[in-house]
Amino acid sequence: MKEHALDALVVSSLANIRYLTGFSGSNALAVVTAGKAFLITDSRYALQSAEEVRGFRRIIGRRGLLGDAAARGALRGCRTAGFESDSLTYAQYRSLRKLFSGVRFKPAPGIVEALARIKDPQEVADIAEAAAISDRVFSGVLGLLRPGMTEREIASEISRLNVGLGSESDAFDIIVASGPRGALPHARPTDRRIRKGDFVLLDFGSTIRGYCSDMTRTLAVGNAPRRLREAYRAVREANESAVAAARGGMKARDLDAVARGSIRRSGFGRYFVHSLGHGIGLRVHESPRVSPLSREVMESGNVITIEPGIYIPGSGGVRIEDDVLLGPGGCRILTKSPRELIVL
Ligand code: ZN
Ligand code: ZN
Repeated sequence: MKEHALDALVVSSLANIRYLTGFSGSNALAVVTAGKAFLITDSRYALQSAEEVRGFRRIIGRRGLLGDAAARGALRGCRTAGFESDSLTYAQYRSLRKLFSGVRFKPAPGIVEALARIKDPQEVADIAEAAAISDRVFSGVLGLLRPGMTEREIASEISRLNVGLGSESDAFDIIVASGPRGALPHARPTDRRIRKGDFVLLDFGSTIRGYCSDMTRTLAVGNAPRRLREAYRAVREANESAVAAARGGMKARDLDAVARGSIRRSGFGRYFVHSLGHGIGLRVHESPRVSPLSREVMESGNVITIEPGIYIPGSGGVRIEDDVLLGPGGCRILTKSPRELIVL
């Protein structure tokens, strides 16, 4: 906070609150000052917060989160306080100004996110455990996926396996995109039935103690068209070259360029339409962004995805996404499902 010339930070993002305090409920606010730290929630969470919260004074209130913070003097003695301008609502901002009229409020996004980028060994272990569950889900799906199933049925099987194998929940809405629908990078599962000759793209994740994995595999059902098989080879080469290059201390955009250059040399350059990857943690998308526009330098201890893809309109799509932990001399792959093309 000193670095940002703030006497206090009002934390409103639930993922950031969980990161700082351990609290996983759905209604909370944290206030951190030089000498004190408060977690404010409501009476529904009295027991849960007592179990989860460490290092923060708990306030179980009834006046609304900001009203309770004010009533307990959470910002007493503070002249300048930062707030999370990317998560606080305008209505909350107006309440802040009204309730704490003597305090100057400054937008201060990204402060907690910058701390959360570097994972400690327990956080890495949680993400690795989530990734291992995703691997087991994938091998389970291989045993039951067959022509005639709908995308929606496959998505519900993935979800069922995920929770059955120990995931707290799906880390995000599952993507199942088959045949030409694979050309939509973020397709929602539909009632389309899998046919012989389809590529099927599966993107899903698991969670352990709130920490997410995020994995994509694309498989062939029967004999897929040659162009899609060539696209698969190009994506796999791009994934592997990026995994081989990834390390802490590297500029995010340089890693993106490794994969993008590889796909361009395979002749599919114009079909790689998104960035290479993103950080994962308590959020499924977090800093650092691994894109051509990113100005971030990745650090050892960051966990990122590497997810090159090729999307050919009218034909189909391929993405291979892995989660890796960056270290000073390279990276450790946390998702271990096979990368070679599986033909069912
Ligand atoms: Zn994904
Ligand atoms: Zn992803």
